Amino acid sequence: MSTLILGAGPIGLASAFELASRGENVTVISQSRHVGESSYVNAGWIVPIMSAPVPAPGALRNSIPWLMDSRSPLKIAPELSPGHISFMLSMLKFSTQKHFVKGLAALSELGRGTLTEFDGYIEKGVEFEIHRSGILMAFTSQAELDSHAIEFEGVEKYGMAPVSVLNSSQMQAREPLLSEIVKYGIDCSDQYFVDPTSLISGLRKKCIELGVEFIDQSEQITLVTKGSKAHVEAGSRTFSGDRVLVAAGVGSRALLENIGIRIPIRFGKGYCFDFVGEKRIKNSLYLSSAKVAVTPNQNYVRFAGTMEFGGNGLSINEKRARGILKSSARYFKEDIFRNAEPKSGLRPMTPDGLPVIGKISGVSNLYISSGHAMLGVTLAANSARAITDLILDGTSAIDISSFNPERFSRSVAR
Ligand SMILES: Cc1cc2nc3c(=O)[nH]c(=O)nc-3n(C[C@H](O)[C@H](O)[C@H](O)COP(=O)(O)OP(=O)(O)OC[C@H]3O[C@@H](n4cnc5c(N)ncnc54)[C@H](O)[C@@H]3O)c2cc1C
Repeated sequence: MSTLILGAGPIGLASAFELASRGENVTVISQSRHVGESSYVNAGWIVPIMSAPVPAPGALRNSIPWLMDSRSPLKIAPELSPGHISFMLSMLKFSTQKHFVKGLAALSELGRGTLTEFDGYIEKGVEFEIHRSGILMAFTSQAELDSHAIEFEGVEKYGMAPVSVLNSSQMQAREPLLSEIVKYGIDCSDQYFVDPTSLISGLRKKCIELGVEFIDQSEQITLVTKGSKAHVEAGSRTFSGDRVLVAAGVGSRALLENIGIRIPIRFGKGYCFDFVGEKRIKNSLYLSSAKVAVTPNQNYVRFAGTMEFGGNGLSINEKRARGILKSSARYFKEDIFRNAEPKSGLRPMTPDGLPVIGKISGVSNLYISSGHAMLGVTLAANSARAITDLILDGTSAIDISSFNPERFSRSVAR
């Protein structure tokens, strides 16, 4: 049997790898533009321990000071489109304690065993740069430290090692470049990070070895239905498969809208800066008040952050992007920021902060795996296993009931 996959980011490629490994005939069709895709600009963290959904209690209250500051890590553009407005209102509606706790449990469950899955990729010959040295979170106050407590309660029940709290001298010992503003830390010792570009090229290479065909398309790619089945049109060509999987990140919404299916996936833009040859930072760091992830890859250190809702796609807001460096600088004793240009990427966000994984009803051969927000790398391998089980066996061993696409037919946001 054959599956067409739309999208060659971590979700599409991990799904292609899983399906092809189980004998499926797979073709991956994607838009051939690499600049600005979150697949390439993300921080590469594999962090099942950080499974908190984006809509969190107190989100509005905590965000107000940031919304007034053009360099802050959060922006909500004053866009007048009904889709944007209803998306943001819906996200606000989901910012309750009850939803947060439920979402955290669902995402933690989806992330269960993901580190082993990434170890498995290496064992199966997928070549990419992986670091198993954990993530160190840096806090400037007790209040900041305390605000993360709920995320780490009971992580053992999802198969993860408990975190440990560090004081300022322990943080200094671990990362001598940190300045005296760092008063506390949390050591998430058993988490990983990868060089995201190497992951994409490694998965793609392995997929090709397994016989997956790649079609990189510069022209518009459209989903159409004929009878009860979905097909794909790209330029002058039509592609058909026994099944079609939409894994096109933020592009998923427009693809589905074309056949009358409305799933509220909108972008949350982020930026990164890379410092090639920078070797002074030893650990992968989370700079809590700056909301910045720092990853010391083999050849470069990446600083990634910000979340912009609405406005103009991949365009780079220099001031906000450079806010990443401005807010990060005070965490270090030395100036580590030489000239670097920001790159942007669009995270596929949903109003309830949960991905959309499952069969689309009303079209006999259509599936979706998208909306992974800030966790698309972390959750790629397990999402791929879940959707592969669903496609090939009709049911998934991983519980994906919370990610059912049908939940939006009852929701207000489109
Ligand atoms: C600054 C930043 C930092 C991040 N850090 C992390 C992190 O540390 N850890 C983590 O887990 N996640 C992180 N993320 C999130 C992560 O990058 C995303 O969740 C992930 O890339 C989503 O994967 P995806 O495959 O669904 O979509 P994408 O990676 O966006 O890929 C989408 C694919 O679909 C293709 N496409 C688009 N439109 C169409 C179309 N119409 N037809 C066919 N193909 C199409 C694109 O060409 C691309 O190949 C970060 C994101 C950003 C922006």
